[in-house]
Amino acid sequence: MSKKVDLDYNPFSEPPKAVMEYCNVCNAEHLQYEDGDLMDCIIYHRLHKEPKDVKKAREEKIEIWDIKTKSWIKKKEFYSVK
Ligand SMILES: [Zn+2]
Repeated sequence: MSKKVDLDYNPFSEPPKAVMEYCNVCNAEHLQYEDGDLMDCIIYHRLHKEPKDVKKAREEKIEIWDIKTKSWIKKKEFYSVK
């Protein structure tokens, strides 16, 4: 799949228009930006379709850099300390 490159097109000249559209990638109707790609599907999936336990498992893997201790700690622990 190749996209025609429009050299005069400035993606920052105007905000992207979001439209509710049927998506043939994930078979759902969700917000899609003009320049949308699979990110739209992923965002939609995570917001609406992802089971809670999957989401929890994914978020538990996220680590945050703790400046004080200079180490990576789990996001969950990072926020429970505060
Ligand atoms: Zn989709």
